[in-house]
Amino acid sequence: MGEFTILLVEDEESLASFIQTELAFEGYQIIWAKDGQEALELFEANPVDLILLDWMLPKYDGITVARRIRKESAVPIIMMTARNQTTDIVLGLDTGLDDYLTKPFEIEELFARIRVIERRLTKQEKRLLTYQKLTLDIAKHQVKVADEEIYLTPKEFGVLYELMKTPEEVKSRDALLDSVWGYDFLGQTNVVDVYVRTLRNKLADNGRLIQTVRGVGYVLRDAHEN
Ligand code: CA
Repeated sequence: MGEFTILLVEDEESLASFIQTELAFEGYQIIWAKDGQEALELFEANPVDLILLDWMLPKYDGITVARRIRKESAVPIIMMTARNQTTDIVLGLDTGLDDYLTKPFEIEELFARIRVIERRLTKQEKRLLTYQKLTLDIAKHQVKVADEEIYLTPKEFGVLYELMKTPEEVKSRDALLDSVWGYDFLGQTNVVDVYVRTLRNKLADNGRLIQTVRGVGYVLRDAHEN
């Protein structure tokens, strides 16, 4: 998923430098903030994928930082707390923290928590397919053109899904039949043409994005690029 940037908020310099070195070694980009105020400033100024946030900090404490960030962002936050603060963790989780680690922790434990969040982010990205103004939400079985929802039958949805999975790649009628109707389908391949026609109608102007490749099948492509 490309570069993954972690904002590390920790006032204890030796711990911060240890975590920073270990995370950098694992290939993460690290931005280090030494107090709550700097955390908010650096968060505003940089694209951040995850925040590793100490609870006890100068200027603003971790929970204040988390609350402020939550007002404008859903970025994952892992809170680091001392053992005697664990009773406060329930409060922390209520304010939208994603996870917490009790100090002292093994660095492997931290890596494991980060990987869980990375996998979750990757899944969320894969749930939505987009092409030009089209958005297809796999989990919700929903298609939108810009912000307007378009109602498709399951087969129409299936055809559009197949085309949106790999835009600009030609799909043969046979391949579409196999994926959407299944290998056992006993019928003619022109059933695909019938569904593509209704799909194009429902997509109105954006129907032009589904282009016919004569003698082969269909492709999702913007006409203006040819
Ligand atoms: Ca601290």
